[in-house]
Amino acid sequence: MTIIHNLGLPRIGARRELKWALESYWRGACAVTEPLTVARDLRARHWAMQASAGCHYVTVGDFSLYDPMLDMSARLGVVPARFGWPGGPVDLDTYFRMARGRAPTGQPAFACEMTKWFDTNYHYLVPELASGQVFALSRDDLFEQVEEAKALGHAPKVVMVGPLTWLWLAKAQDDFAKLELLDALLPVYGQILARLAGQGVTWAQLDEPILVLDLPPEWRTAFERAYHVLQSAGLKIMVATYFGGLEDNLITAARLPVAGLHVDAVSAPDELVQTVDWLPATKVLSVGCVDGRNVWRADLDGALDRLAPIHARLGDRLWLAPSCSLLHVPLDLTVETGLDPDIKSWLAFARQKLDELATLARALEQGREAIAPVLEENRAALAARRASSRVRDPAVRARLAAVKPEDGHRASPYAERAMIQRARLKLPLYPTTTIGSFPQTADIRATRRDYKAGRIGQAAYEEKMRAEIRHAVAVQEQLGLDVLVHGEAERNDMVEYFGEQLAGYAFTSDGWVQSYGSRCVKPPIIHGDVARPAAMTVAWSAHAQSLTHKPMKGMLTGPITMLKWAFARDDQPWRDTALQIALALRDEILDLEAAGIGVIQVDEPAFREAMPLRANQRKAYLAWAAEAFRLATAGVADATQIHTHMCYSEFNDIIAAIADLDADVITIETARSNMELLDAFAGFNYPNEIGPGVYDIHSPNVPEVEAMTRLMRKAAARIPPERLWVNPDCGLKTRAWPETEAALANMVAAAKRLRGTGSVVA
Ligand code: GLN
Ligand code: ZN
Repeated sequence: MTIIHNLGLPRIGARRELKWALESYWRGACAVTEPLTVARDLRARHWAMQASAGCHYVTVGDFSLYDPMLDMSARLGVVPARFGWPGGPVDLDTYFRMARGRAPTGQPAFACEMTKWFDTNYHYLVPELASGQVFALSRDDLFEQVEEAKALGHAPKVVMVGPLTWLWLAKAQDDFAKLELLDALLPVYGQILARLAGQGVTWAQLDEPILVLDLPPEWRTAFERAYHVLQSAGLKIMVATYFGGLEDNLITAARLPVAGLHVDAVSAPDELVQTVDWLPATKVLSVGCVDGRNVWRADLDGALDRLAPIHARLGDRLWLAPSCSLLHVPLDLTVETGLDPDIKSWLAFARQKLDELATLARALEQGREAIAPVLEENRAALAARRASSRVRDPAVRARLAAVKPEDGHRASPYAERAMIQRARLKLPLYPTTTIGSFPQTADIRATRRDYKAGRIGQAAYEEKMRAEIRHAVAVQEQLGLDVLVHGEAERNDMVEYFGEQLAGYAFTSDGWVQSYGSRCVKPPIIHGDVARPAAMTVAWSAHAQSLTHKPMKGMLTGPITMLKWAFARDDQPWRDTALQIALALRDEILDLEAAGIGVIQVDEPAFREAMPLRANQRKAYLAWAAEAFRLATAGVADATQIHTHMCYSEFNDIIAAIADLDADVITIETARSNMELLDAFAGFNYPNEIGPGVYDIHSPNVPEVEAMTRLMRKAAARIPPERLWVNPDCGLKTRAWPETEAALANMVAAAKRLRGTGSVVA
């Protein structure tokens, strides 16, 4: 029998039940029993969903009240000293304080750092290792959930983050120190596995996605050592890898002394046969054959063509699974009633993907004839998608084919543009600006809800937004900022706002995907060629410019971010989609320019996140990513100043590509890293202008004039002052007005002091 199983399900709930229960508990509005009851109920429902889809095991351990990496840290007793944990079982409020800095009980402390899980938009909590870190089994959640599943009559397969991946992602003084901790770590993993075995669990899935990364040889060796130790735990271990091919780690992975290996055959289909060749004759191979990260229906015929020869070789040792945890897709397509029916017929969310696996398994067992009607329907849907006019727009294709190399280059080099822009914009030294958004007040959000629900009309909505713009402009003029923004009151989300106005994007009503903790996003679906039927931002920006003599900065989301924060098409390379988006943005930028907007910012916060995990694929990515950015921006005259913004602080390995964007100005996040990241810009001799953020917008604290002046002086020691801007780290939409005004007043004062025109009183 071909076993199907699941690597993980979305856990937040179809109606985000977990989010509401957790947030209510954190607010102190309910007892802890409430989120715990909701959690138990969700687990039961999700196990039932897997069982009824025909999964032979239900997955236990993918559920989390905040994050599975944090769960693992708590189980291992890795709690940073600042949380005052006395040892013993890690209680829930300590766990929540590690995640959020605060909980209904206990002293607040700095939350653990959060960062992106591989190349996804899911964020995990980074484990922090102390020197001489000890490990001790400190949380029983997994064992309790196993009992829960058994009581409901399910056969549990337990999943947890594997020891090498957990360690790799942890923060320590240096990598060498981390690996030295492995020997201390393994006994606790062994203890957990042995207890699970004692509970009657037969399979444990240990997630080791770092096997798809470029690993130093000592880490590869550590894999062998670790799994030799763990093999005696008394249950079968499946090592799960995903998000890419194994490449030079393939032999290591295939030969680990464990009972099973899971591989991602969606992102690395060509490696499958080789993996089977290397697989020892006793081992189970779980083939990730439906895409766990994207929303498209599987091509069942294509999958069966690939799987059938492997099934012939492996027989019952072949298991089927999604390529990775289904955490990265929404739970259930059937609740989407507003989607265009054609587009809906091309999609599969988590629940539908489990059904696809069951269909594939049945076909392998009983032959394709046994599922002929299902295959027929799948073929028809795929054929309809390929032929649909919603997918291919000949005008977009013709235009892209006609792009000339010079379309991707500004007319003159930066040095010449800078002089022309200086003459036009007449900005002082250390010009001040902000990143785009101003506080999205409850009032703004309520107005948008009223508008969407039809309680107020378009005219009333637009007048309210114009009033917000007037307010934002007045505040900025009064503060004395140099380059103003309109404040983005009219935008719900920086991708959704544009996607809704572009052809080729579709939106779900409940397609929530967890981003971190209780927070979810609803990524749009790019289903077809992207085009811009009409101007998107010109009216707002022109209105804003009409209110001031200062330069008003136009504000757009760049092609890479528009692509990466959506579900991308799987029927053409990312590059092609990015270039289509770039052409749409190019038109918008030229329209803004024609409307008198002399400064235009194209945000690319996802530029780094979209970078391939493997070094050997990065060059190609960076080349087309820069190509797309330049195609969007290079059509403007020399006098128009192009800004870009990226809100993170690691540029060392991409600095050449950043320079390749040829933006006149880049604003980045530096406040928290104390300007250290500017070393990348200084070392590379970054040629254009930079605004290193001096105001950490993630904190409600108002930064002092002195602190910001000091940061800028540090910057000026690395970058010539004529090329420096003064600005916050990121947009201000999550902040409130009073702190925003106070912080920006200090920021302007710091700039004046730097120019030598401010008060000399410290
Ligand atoms: N212009 C956007 C804003 O200010 C940029 C957001 C971002 O970088 N994530 O909100
Ligand atoms: Zn940002």
